[in-house]
Amino acid sequence: MKKLILLIVIALFAFSACDSGIDENPAAEKFKILTSIPVLYSLTANIADGAQNVEIQNIVPPNASFHTFSLTPEAAKNIAEADLIVLNGLGLEEFLGKSLEGSKALIVDTGKNVELLEFSEPLFEDAEAEEEEHVGKYDPHIWLSPKNAKIQVQNIADALIVADSKNALIYAANLKILSAQLDLLDSEISSELSELDIKPYLVFHDAYQYFEKNFGVQSVGFLEENVGNEPSAKYLAQLVEVIEKEKVEVIFAEPQFSPKLAQTLSQDYGLKIETLNPDGGEVSKDGYFKLMRGNLDAFEKIFNVK
Ligand SMILES: [Zn+2]
Repeated sequence: MKKLILLIVIALFAFSACDSGIDENPAAEKFKILTSIPVLYSLTANIADGAQNVEIQNIVPPNASFHTFSLTPEAAKNIAEADLIVLNGLGLEEFLGKSLEGSKALIVDTGKNVELLEFSEPLFEDAEAEEEEHVGKYDPHIWLSPKNAKIQVQNIADALIVADSKNALIYAANLKILSAQLDLLDSEISSELSELDIKPYLVFHDAYQYFEKNFGVQSVGFLEENVGNEPSAKYLAQLVEVIEKEKVEVIFAEPQFSPKLAQTLSQDYGLKIETLNPDGGEVSKDGYFKLMRGNLDAFEKIFNVK
């Protein structure tokens, strides 16, 4: 009898040891988060910093634009395996197509509760094509205002606290830290931009409304009427009129698109050229802050202090 009990004890011990072996296997237990663009990766990585058994992947790489991105097989695999998918919304993730159908993941719409801005009015009255090309009515580049990014991280944290409750305290604590960091970033950029003598400038595409509204600056137009497509000869001719009439001094290119057109206009009309990055940056925890500070640096390089 004693022998039998001993065997049972050994068997139970072996079973529980085996069971805990599974628990300790990180691959089996990972909570998998997938983000659509690098800025959302960065914001999510800040919220998940220090969380146990969490893995974050990102879909659109920093050197690509979501406007022209096509879904890769690797991204499709990550979608199928994800527990939580962090999206911007507002038509930004059009490249996902129907790939979310059948996904087991909780989908986070980080644009929820953000005060939205409609796309800019066409620069010229007959630029009808621009309106037709847009997905949806609202400008999706919401994160370029840190105040919006604060709402986005609240949405990310709310979802993570529900979907991965074992790390809830970490998510809640990180949200407080990150919100304070975003407030600080907002006031730093505001105060530094306010010291600059900002001359009329053109941006590459219609992406900076939230940035400009937040920081009190204003472009006079954009190079590409339909982002990802070369502007028509007619549009360019009208743009040249704007450059001359508004006395444009600066043109901003973007790292996700060829700088050729901006360089040509810069040479032909004596414009200074710099680069603004609307949505790339790095797939890293600091990526959002580097992106925003990089854009501030671009303004500081090209415009003098008052
Ligand atoms: Zn854009």
